[in-house]
Parts: sequence; structure tokens; C-alpha cells
Amino acid sequence: MIIMSLFFLVLGLSIGSFINVLVYRLRVAESIMGRSFCPHCRNKVAWYDNIPLVSFVLLRFRCRNCKERISWQYPLVEALTGIIFLAIGSKFFSFDDMYSWFLTGYYFFISASLISIVAYDMLYMEIPSIVLWVATAFALAFNFLFDIEKGQLLSFANGLTLSGLAASAAAFAFFFSLSKFSKEKWMGMGDAYLVILLGFIVGWPEILFALFSAFSIGAICGIILILFKKKKMESQLPFAPFLVLGTLLTLFFYQAVMDWYLGLFNL
Ligand SMILES: [Zn+2]
Repeated sequence: MIIMSLFFLVLGLSIGSFINVLVYRLRVAESIMGRSFCPHCRNKVAWYDNIPLVSFVLLRFRCRNCKERISWQYPLVEALTGIIFLAIGSKFFSFDDMYSWFLTGYYFFISASLISIVAYDMLYMEIPSIVLWVATAFALAFNFLFDIEKGQLLSFANGLTLSGLAASAAAFAFFFSLSKFSKEKWMGMGDAYLVILLGFIVGWPEILFALFSAFSIGAICGIILILFKKKKMESQLPFAPFLVLGTLLTLFFYQAVMDWYLGLFNL
């Protein structure tokens, strides 16, 4: 069990390292293959300087070649991905259950995509459409496969596919209206496309919990930032991070929260 946890953590740290490369190269439209290099001096990074988290500390957050500071984004994304992979592995993986292998792999892929989207959005105030559409196609395909698993071949009229479609459609309609109505002041069209993916991931009615969490946490953060005068009332916060956080909270805690809530009426 400890070995598995360690494996998930290290896998997450490595994927996090890859996400940093992916986000940067998507922006500058370079191939995602090939060795890592320093964005300042473009010197190739040796393997021993490319160990997630460890290298940043050993290098004291500076490039070995040009001594330029390495952005906080790199270790932060790695640590975050490591922690999320560890949490997914602990919650969904069971060695004897073949289905859990697929489910865990699916959530790894989905969470890596979501972290890439958040990192990109926070850096460039834009959602990377290629990552979004690949992840959406993947989530949709998995919803169908899940039905195959239940012995219902590619039938639209069953549980997860239908619930995913309903959640996506409802969330998109809501965000699309917000965006149109406010002329993209309250919400960007990027967020409306993002919630299509989130709907397929969590389904209906879980999407309501995810969106409610996103708006609540977003509002609290907004108030805190205004109180500390970091932001003005009219300045925009990127909303994708809150949507993704709400979705992850739903994956991990929806069932527990519902059990607790329903328990209140069954005393
Ligand atoms: Zn450098």
C-alpha cells in the first residue's frame, strides 16, 4: 500500500514536470517532444537538474547555466499534481479490481488535463483549446466505455452517458448565457467550453455541487483579495481554477457530503 502510494506520488510529480513543459511549449507552439531547456538561455537541462521538486531546491531556484530565477510555477505544479495523483490513487485504485485500473488511469489523464488548463489560464488568461478538446473527447469516450462495462453497448439511453450529456448541456447553457448577457464581463466563453468537459467528468446532478463549490470558493477568494486590496472590485479573477477545484472536490467528497446531508433528515 505504501509502495503504491509512493508510486502514485512520484508518477504525479513526473507528470507535473511534463505539464510545465507542455504549458510553455503550447504557448510558443513548439514540439512537446525533446529535452527540457531553460526558457531564458535555452540551455538543455541535464537529467540530474530535472528531478521534480528536488532539483529546484538543489539549484536554489536558479538555472545552472544562466543563474536566472526559475518560476514558482514549476515546483508548484509538480507538487500539486503529485498530491492529486496520490489522492486519486488512494481513492479509486484497488489492485484486484481490473475496472479500478481503468478508472484510476482515466482520472489521472483527466486531472493532468485540468491542471494544464488551470496553469495555462493563470499564466495567459486563456484556456488552451487543444488540451480542452482532447480531454473532452476522452471523457465522452470513457462515458461510453463505462456503459459497455455495464453491458450496455453504446446506448444513449443509460446512466452515465445521459447524466454526462445532461450535466454538460445544462452547465454550458448557464455559462453561455452569463457570458453573452454580460458581454464576457462576468464570464468568458472559455469557461463555457470548460464546463462542457466538467459536465462529462462529474455528471448530473453532481455538476450542480461542482459549480456551487466553484462560485462559493471564488466569491470567498474575491472578497479576501478585495479586503487586502490586491484586486479592485471590477478586476477579473480567472475562473477556471475555481471550476476545476469545484470539480475535484466533487470527485472526492460529493458522496460523503450527500450522505451527511441526507443523514440530517434520518435521525
Ligand atoms: Zn538558463
